[in-house]
Amino acid sequence: MANPKEPLYIVLLGAPGAGKGTQARRLAEVLQIVHIASGDLFRENLNHQTALGLLAKEYIDQGKLVPDEITIRMVMERLACPDCASGAILDGFPRTVAQAQALDEELAARGQRVSAALYLRVSEGVLIARLSGRWICRSCQATYHTLFNPPRQPGICDVCGGELYQRSDDAAETVQNRLKVYFEQTLPLMDYYRARGVLVEINGEQEVERVADELLAAVHQIA
Ligand code: ADP
Ligand code: ADP
Ligand code: ZN
Repeated sequence: MANPKEPLYIVLLGAPGAGKGTQARRLAEVLQIVHIASGDLFRENLNHQTALGLLAKEYIDQGKLVPDEITIRMVMERLACPDCASGAILDGFPRTVAQAQALDEELAARGQRVSAALYLRVSEGVLIARLSGRWICRSCQATYHTLFNPPRQPGICDVCGGELYQRSDDAAETVQNRLKVYFEQTLPLMDYYRARGVLVEINGEQEVERVADELLAAVHQIA
């Protein structure tokens, strides 16, 4: 790394089910920076029945993107918290070019920039298999898979003992919409970050450990 003291702002790109959450959590721990997952922020708001959560729900349930204005405001508020001054891993944001531009503007205002945009490449068949078997901890958001990464005890989180649940938007009908939205609205971000020289593609179909190693190597090389 050129200067290890410089804050790292890392964007994780990839379709629903690509492994962003799984990898972001590990990377955040290794790099000792904050993990910001826009989907988790929305779900947290939903659990607390905030106005933002109720508004987001209708979009999430249909597998659509929550409008940029709402999403950008929510993520920028989180980024403004003091714990993000030393960097952050953004998981699930940006998902549109407008969101990427808003992020660039916010970071530029602080003399910062996106250090790396890491794209987890995973084919559609694998994405569908991953989403249909995904289980999430209600307490700590750790992610499991019935076949690929089962918890030690069914239904119980290895990390915190919390209850595991399946997201209603991981149901097959909603997944189809989410993938369509991803191909139409989020994939163009690859060009956005490629043009800025910060895009790195990783084969996201490898084992979790292998993907994690390659992501870390990419961060060390580019940032
Ligand atoms: P995303 O945040 O991109 O939607 P997740 O990290 O939640 O993706 O992963 C989706 C599902 O795939 C989860 O059930 C997770 O346990 C599983 N998974 C993640 N990475 C891998 C991998 N490299 N190989 C197999 N299964 C994986
Ligand atoms: P996944 O882990 O499967 O990629 P997320 O948890 O990131 O899914 O997102 C779940 C839902 O939350 C999305 O389908 C969308 O409705 C909403 N959402 C999350 N992030 C964004 C974003 N950056 N812009 C708009 N909507 C978002
Ligand atoms: Zn847990």
